[in-house]
Amino acid sequence: MSAKPKILVLGGGFGGLEALFTMKHLLGDRADLKLVSDRPWFQFKPNTIYIPFGESPEKYQIDLLHPLKKQAIEFVEARVQEINPESKTVETDSERLKYDYLVVATGAKMRAEEVPGLVEHAVTVWTPEDMLRLRDRFAEVLERAGRGVRSKVLFLIPPNNRCSGPLYEMVCMLDTWLRRHHSRDQVDLTFATKEAAFIEAFGPRLNTVVADEFAHRGIEGHLLYVVEHVYDKAVRFQNDIELPYDLLISFPPYAAASSFSALPIDDRGFVKVDPDSRRVVGHEQMYAVGDTADFPIKQAFLALLQGDAAADHIAADVLGRKPEVDFHPMSMCVMEQFDKAVFAQVPLKYTGEAQRPVEVDVEDVDHYKVGVSPLWRVGKSALGFYLPWRFGSGKPFHSGFAWNMMDLGLQAMSHTMAK
Ligand SMILES: Cc1cc2nc3c(=O)[nH]c(=O)nc-3n(C[C@H](O)[C@H](O)[C@H](O)COP(=O)(O)OP(=O)(O)OC[C@H]3O[C@@H](n4cnc5c(N)ncnc54)[C@H](O)[C@@H]3O)c2cc1C
Repeated sequence: MSAKPKILVLGGGFGGLEALFTMKHLLGDRADLKLVSDRPWFQFKPNTIYIPFGESPEKYQIDLLHPLKKQAIEFVEARVQEINPESKTVETDSERLKYDYLVVATGAKMRAEEVPGLVEHAVTVWTPEDMLRLRDRFAEVLERAGRGVRSKVLFLIPPNNRCSGPLYEMVCMLDTWLRRHHSRDQVDLTFATKEAAFIEAFGPRLNTVVADEFAHRGIEGHLLYVVEHVYDKAVRFQNDIELPYDLLISFPPYAAASSFSALPIDDRGFVKVDPDSRRVVGHEQMYAVGDTADFPIKQAFLALLQGDAAADHIAADVLGRKPEVDFHPMSMCVMEQFDKAVFAQVPLKYTGEAQRPVEVDVEDVDHYKVGVSPLWRVGKSALGFYLPWRFGSGKPFHSGFAWNMMDLGLQAMSHTMAK
């Protein structure tokens, strides 16, 4: 290894940027840091749910060139094609790059084609372009309601989707939005999911909150509805039931955005890692964080925590100290509904079972917290301001005075407004 280790981060999303800026914070100039990503901006995906309701997509793209320059981190705008662990090189569509340490954070992609008929008939939720398409379809629903024509809007979670929360946000947001436009009585809202409980990954308390919310809003919810085929105007499920629709909205199955064949990967391309450090199995100086790694629940907050662990392990190695930060899976989110929001902090634990590797640690009552209140919308706005501001300044989410203040605020809110 040269005097200054070369650290390469692949992917400028939540996991990659958190790892990159944390390493800068911990190592300063003692390492050569480089980011390779296929776009010069950070896409703040969680808030793209506002685009169908009128927000501009540009609002959720945060420039990376300025913060990277400010932090003296080199940026290579390129698409990574392969990783060669033996030669410690990465092949991109423009050049070959050498590394001593590597962080793989290239995220996930959607595989809508796994569900017959989904590509042809559904509006899927993933990119800002999808959200703009949905905006047009919501406008159509409103226009039909104005003419007194009823619409059936069906939300669908198929097998192998790994982040169902945003679709639950959107069905409740749509309900509030339609009420505000005096059109709710012209629209039937239905939610069908393959899950055994609503937002299953977040455990029994979220299931109760969502079931109550659906009952209160008149949204028809169906659990264990596993999609078999999507037809024009109807979805058929494995239980032989068909649900009709005029507008179908789905969050498709997940796979790794880029599948790197030289790494240990599962059948969806997700990289196998050591649970605590996020070190890639069998590769000492390589880490994988965020959606592209094998943790079964894909979430921004979890990607940040994984980025923190990988960064600390690399910094410890470079500095010759013991690592101090491991990945302890604790999910956190604030779910928008326009009239209020749901806060959830969810401790997770490993089960050791291949079918269901992670579950909610319901006995950890100190950390398992859920709250519903219009005031939680303030928490959502604060996170929506804080995170782009940190990454836009070349700083990690979880560090420094600003994070301590943010953390204090969230703790105070969850102490008073969540149980
Ligand atoms: C609509 C929506 C709402 C969501 N809401 C929430 C929420 O409320 N809370 C929450 O916690 N999570 C939410 N999520 C999930 C969250 O956005 C993801 O879990 C998170 O983005 C994962 O971070 P990541 O760094 O792993 O991947 P990403 O953020 O996807 O970043 C991956 C980066 O790698 C780049 N890349 C990919 N392949 C290559 C390649 N071959 N070469 C170079 N660059 C590459 C991509 O361009 C991208 O910049 C939501 C997701 C969506 C779609």
